[in-house]
Amino acid sequence: MKCPLCSGKLFVTDSKTVKDRIRRVRECKECLSRFPNYEIINLYECDPYIRRQLERKKAL
Ligand SMILES: [Zn+2]
Repeated sequence: MKCPLCSGKLFVTDSKTVKDRIRRVRECKECLSRFPNYEIINLYECDPYIRRQLERKKAL
């Protein structure tokens, strides 16, 4: 991942799990800007088999 401001390299400085997603803060070592970003599983692009398993689990 590159810095949107200066295209410098971004480094993860903070990472924590919030429910079903991971919140990370990335910092650019060039211009020292910080960018929070979220990582989330895209269920719509999961394997159909996995999606069925998840739907069944929710139904219980
Ligand atoms: Zn930068």
